[in-house]
Amino acid sequence: MKLSFDRAELDFRDQVRSFIALHFPADRPFTPGAADEDRWATALLHQGWAAYQWPPQFGGTGWNMTQKYIWERETALAGVPARMGGMGMFMLAPVLYTHGSAEQCQRFLPGILDNSVEWCQGYSEPEAGSDLAALGTRAVLEGDHYLVNGMKTWTSYAHIADWMFCIVRTGSTGRRQDGISFLLIDMRSTGVSVQPIVTLDGRHSTLNTVTFDNVRVPLDQRVGEEGQGWRYAKGLLTHERTGLAYVADSTRRLRRLRETASRTPTGHGWLIDDPLFAARLAEVEIDLMALEITELRTLAETATGQAPGTQSSILKLQGTLVLQRLTELFIECAGLHALPYSFEERGLREEMSTYLIGRSASIAGGTNEVQRDIIAKHVLGLP
Ligand SMILES: Cc1cc2nc3c(=O)[nH]c(=O)nc-3n(C[C@H](O)[C@H](O)[C@H](O)COP(=O)(O)OP(=O)(O)OC[C@H]3O[C@@H](n4cnc5c(N)ncnc54)[C@H](O)[C@@H]3O)c2cc1C
Repeated sequence: MKLSFDRAELDFRDQVRSFIALHFPADRPFTPGAADEDRWATALLHQGWAAYQWPPQFGGTGWNMTQKYIWERETALAGVPARMGGMGMFMLAPVLYTHGSAEQCQRFLPGILDNSVEWCQGYSEPEAGSDLAALGTRAVLEGDHYLVNGMKTWTSYAHIADWMFCIVRTGSTGRRQDGISFLLIDMRSTGVSVQPIVTLDGRHSTLNTVTFDNVRVPLDQRVGEEGQGWRYAKGLLTHERTGLAYVADSTRRLRRLRETASRTPTGHGWLIDDPLFAARLAEVEIDLMALEITELRTLAETATGQAPGTQSSILKLQGTLVLQRLTELFIECAGLHALPYSFEERGLREEMSTYLIGRSASIAGGTNEVQRDIIAKHVLGLP
């Protein structure tokens, strides 16, 4: 098993570094916000790297898994986004070019590629989260369209989305999974309404509830065959979970944490030299290194054409735990200053806000308990 880069891969890494430095040199780093985001999106589109995960025939790079890994790592270390597209880019597009019709690819992929159309993911419902197959949003075929009724919840970015890709119930015989279909719904359709959900950090930042009241969805907005939506949706989740290991992101955070702790005074010196803090920092660093090796192992396997499969659950589980422990150590650095004293007027210090929102990482994309279940059954072979 190959766990280091060869010459060609190192050359590619240098090319990536030069490209990033050309647009955001060390003395002019990327600043989150419309100006730099637009500039970066344009640069990626011109370079042909906007859809780095897609096959070339649909406008992607055709990079192999190692090149994708290098791209994700280098962008995270430089503090620039790996991609500017949202959920359409890395979740829906693979479903479309794998299972969608040629017309659907022509109609929807360009808007995802140039980031002009925002998508949200409608899977979870009030009574269907971990047990997703229990979903009850119903789509009834009436001539050339489906009539959709029901509710989705925890829908990230629904308030700004133009479209939703979602799974709905179209049949109730046989296995629960067999009666599910994959639909694309225009969020401006009559009967769609979006309500905000305020999260632990005291803000409505991303989450929403979406209700469907007799929403008409044309038949040509169903992806693939009726009743096969579960299969498409499950494939999408493995990609989502593999992308939730946060290795590069955590590496950048760790570096920043080390710098911050070196500047944080204690009664006797600096926090970085405090034996208890240093031990916790070392523990999380070791776990991050182990996670990175697991990610490289997964890459080595997928490079031979295998799907990430249950490995993605290990990455998601460990990745979120490392991320959360890092956010806890940041709170220690901030000390008393991390205390939230007014949600409305003063906002939260960044460390506290990141810590609080970071709690959701072990829920979103499938909870960590569910990932442990998958690992127990499918990796360890326990009954
Ligand atoms: C920040 C965030 C963003 C999200 N974005 C989206 C989105 O864009 N689109 C979307 O569709 N969904 C989204 N979700 C929803 C997410 O997928 C669900 O929250 C998640 O699948 C868990 O479902 P649930 O909340 O219904 O919890 P439940 O399934 O009710 O679980 C409750 C608790 O029971 C435990 N549990 C459940 N079943 C088992 C089991 N078999 N074994 C052991 N323990 C179990 C869980 O681990 C959890 O602790 C988002 C969630 C969050 C937090």
